[in-house]
Amino acid sequence: MLVMDGATIVAIATPPGEGGIGVVRLSGDDAAVIARRVFRQGHGDRPPMLRPDRSHRLIYGRVVDPTTGEPVDEALLAWMAAPHTYTREDTVELSCHGGSVPVRETLRVLMAAGARHAEPGEFTLRAFLNGRLDLTQAEAVLNVVGARTTEGLRLAVADLGGELGTRLQPARDLLVGLLAYLDAAADFPDDEIPPADVVSEMTAAEAALVDVLAGARAGMLYREGAQVALVGRPNVGKSSLLNALLRAERAIVTPVAGTTRDVIAETVNLGGFGFPVTLLDTAGIAETVDLVERLGIDRSRRAIDAAVAAVLVLDGSVPPGPDDLAVAAMLAARGDQMGAPPAVVIAINKSDLPAVDQAAVLELLPGCPVVEVAATSGLGLPALEAALGGQLRGDSGGQARPALITTRQRAALDRSLTHLRDAIAMHDAVHPLDLLATDVRAALRAIGEVTGEAIDDAVLTEIFARFCIGK
Ligand code: GDP
Repeated sequence: MLVMDGATIVAIATPPGEGGIGVVRLSGDDAAVIARRVFRQGHGDRPPMLRPDRSHRLIYGRVVDPTTGEPVDEALLAWMAAPHTYTREDTVELSCHGGSVPVRETLRVLMAAGARHAEPGEFTLRAFLNGRLDLTQAEAVLNVVGARTTEGLRLAVADLGGELGTRLQPARDLLVGLLAYLDAAADFPDDEIPPADVVSEMTAAEAALVDVLAGARAGMLYREGAQVALVGRPNVGKSSLLNALLRAERAIVTPVAGTTRDVIAETVNLGGFGFPVTLLDTAGIAETVDLVERLGIDRSRRAIDAAVAAVLVLDGSVPPGPDDLAVAAMLAARGDQMGAPPAVVIAINKSDLPAVDQAAVLELLPGCPVVEVAATSGLGLPALEAALGGQLRGDSGGQARPALITTRQRAALDRSLTHLRDAIAMHDAVHPLDLLATDVRAALRAIGEVTGEAIDDAVLTEIFARFCIGK
């Protein structure tokens, strides 16, 4: 799909189904010619005048089937001549009545008139290949479309304006300068080339990259949201707590599709964090005599593995039992695997009832915040949300300015950093400069894979395949 085959492409740009209007989008050198074949202006039989000097206009008329002359739909034609368009190509958008048949028929006659059906993301791909967007901006389009909170949208729109590219610029500029120096030093070893302070330049580039990467973890929260598992033995009040949190928030972002029937998941914009939080409730487990089944250990473990943090719910009105200890031990073990204290908040529920000491459980999870709550009255919920927010943000690299970075972009930047650190280590060991150049060049290339300056077709295909058709 990556060949710029010169075709004029067409696709339905609005979601399937009925709506107020449905838009069919056409882009390419022949957009005007093809549109003129299927569009009649006003109530007459004349095709519209689509000239560069009459660009960015709306024309009322009808879409007709050019082979039969039969009208297809009444429509508004938007004519936008290159280069001031999304793709930088001539573009026509036909706004039809928003039923699936008029829109599909319009698509059909445009294809019959010479347009090729667009691949997913091909309009945005052309915008990238024609130099209107760099790759960070093209990928930001996906984040804008897929934004799940207003904060996530704000970050994505900033990237659309080139924010990520701008943030990578300092590291890139330093490496370009360094490489020029290293290449010159290698090519003209006998000439007097002003000695650049190679190590301090490399260290500065390293710091610039580390800064962007520090924001990536926080950015992941905004883009993907955080999964939080509610765990605890049966009857401690997990379901009640989930419902209380949902009621308190009322801002259900999306019901989560594809969750297993034994784990209930609800996504909320919890505590105004700005990123979506999906609460996984491991309750609803059938009562059985089998301890493993009763605790739903497998289910809880799956939920915990999927989650970045957990809320351990205890019943504060009864002494902790072996079941509570077993769940707490499971959470503690998770912390050990990660080499850090687990991101767990302990919620001592039923605090409206006389309290019983829970120290035996708390001792298993030292350092985890403890909050007293009552799911039935809503008592302590704001404190629980604040504690959870602290755990999630702590998990996300503290105060770093969030950057929306995809897994692919992150892997490339990690690679860049590794090459850079190799180069720094090598310089310390007094290696010849041309060996340094190899690593510096690789570091620069990895940054180029993010901005799109150095990227191969297979990766591009993969990126744009994630777009909708018509985008
Ligand atoms: P789960 O099995 O952990 O999901 O527990 P449930 O949410 O089903 O709650 C078990 C029982 O505890 C129910 O009878 C709830 O009404 C009760 N319960 C839950 N939260 C509280 C609370 O804060 N105070 C009191 N007194 N009872 C609660």
